[in-house]
Amino acid sequence: MSSQASIGIPVTGISTASGQGFTDDSPKDECGVLGLSTPHGEGVAQLAFFGLFALQHRGQEAAGIAVSDGQRARVHKEAGLVANVFTPDTLAPLTGYHAIGHTRYSTTGSNAERNIQPFLVETMHGPLSVAHNGNLVNATALREELLNRGFGLTATSDTEVFTLMLAAAGGQTWQERIERTLPAWKGAFSLVILAADQVIAVRDPWGFRPLSVGRLPHGGHAVASETCALSTLGCVDIDEVAPGEMVTLRGAELERTQVLAPQANSARCSFEFVYFSRPDSNWDGRSVHHTRQQLGIELAKESPADADVIIPVPDSSIPAAIGFARETGLPFNDGLIKNRYIGRTFIEPTQDIRERGVALKFNALSENLEGQRVVVIDDSLVRGTTAGPLVKLVRDAGATEVHVRITCPPITHACHFGVDMGHDDDLMASQLNVEEIREHIGADSLAFLSLDGMMQAIADRKSGQDDGYCNACFTGEYPLAVGDAQAKLSFEGVLA
Ligand code: SF4
Repeated sequence: MSSQASIGIPVTGISTASGQGFTDDSPKDECGVLGLSTPHGEGVAQLAFFGLFALQHRGQEAAGIAVSDGQRARVHKEAGLVANVFTPDTLAPLTGYHAIGHTRYSTTGSNAERNIQPFLVETMHGPLSVAHNGNLVNATALREELLNRGFGLTATSDTEVFTLMLAAAGGQTWQERIERTLPAWKGAFSLVILAADQVIAVRDPWGFRPLSVGRLPHGGHAVASETCALSTLGCVDIDEVAPGEMVTLRGAELERTQVLAPQANSARCSFEFVYFSRPDSNWDGRSVHHTRQQLGIELAKESPADADVIIPVPDSSIPAAIGFARETGLPFNDGLIKNRYIGRTFIEPTQDIRERGVALKFNALSENLEGQRVVVIDDSLVRGTTAGPLVKLVRDAGATEVHVRITCPPITHACHFGVDMGHDDDLMASQLNVEEIREHIGADSLAFLSLDGMMQAIADRKSGQDDGYCNACFTGEYPLAVGDAQAKLSFEGVLA
């Protein structure tokens, strides 16, 4: 088998038990967006805060809320978690009837302060604020066009491109300006836009990222990346914003317009079901929790194991482990306990903790593992930096055998639609075959769910059927050309 160094897999992080530090192997979450408009204006900023709080899992680097009172707009945004960024004092000035909010993980542009959303600019048509989830594959060309037209750019994310293009577009209304600008945008975008007297939400015609709308219990409406945020706000009549649809929220009014024809090859992100979305969200008419259980059932049908107990890697793999246990008839139990409050820390771990790799994030429950043949269920394997230390942790806790089962196919290609998985070469499965990965992580057996099995769980797919989902990170078949897609930090050079 090739050695780790010779195949170019990063040796930093915790790829071995004696690794140099802790690197989380999870694909980095994208972003969460939220918008709402009420006729009475009571507690709009507080509502936005609680909606964003429910979207925290989609981005933990920064958060922001912009509010408009019909004439003026104000924004508060900072690096940090929603609960740290907003206090009664920072929310108090955000009075008005209409609001948008954003939780950020930087998929384009660095995590610099200037890239924190929502963006807010003054235009000749009044204030304009924009927040975005996704990634444009043609942002470099659009950005160059703006620079050639003499626009000054202050940030390095493609959200600024959206904002400036809208501000400069012709048309009598924001809806007209959006309609004129939309055809130029190629890629993934679920956008919320705040103007003086309304909130407008738009979803790209491929439908990459989720976006839903609902009716607030005391008047008005809200849109959000995930239905869990709408449920937190008490929304009823929750419905998906269709690919290519524009939704206008103006006090008690709701207007829905199909501004772009949905692409024939629609491309919902299957990875939202595997990992990103909260299990209490619904998308494409399906519960994420139920779908994850189905992923476990399909995995058990394809790759059962001769074992004594099934344990999940918490939290996102819990429903799949329950499904796997049900299908195999083997008992489900906790074997790994996660520190749910782990986040960004500026305190360096001690040498001892660093050497024990996953110790910061997980401890093993030896009473449930000792003398057991264990199946560990995990949602995905990206760079492969945590799987080896987790297998070792379970073995050190007394497991006699460790079998790893992954609820999606091997990830072999980078995502260009808003999910930061690094480059193709950073992905373990682009470098090693399944047997080599098994040997690398030290498991007794390893199996990934097949593409057909995953799509059977997500969309009841029969083999080969086109079900309107993007699976490019598993297949390399991108739903639109990604030749111009920029690397995450490519705009930094332009500003430098
Ligand atoms: S490439 Fe993967 S992560 Fe990106 S949108 Fe497609 S399925 Fe989702």
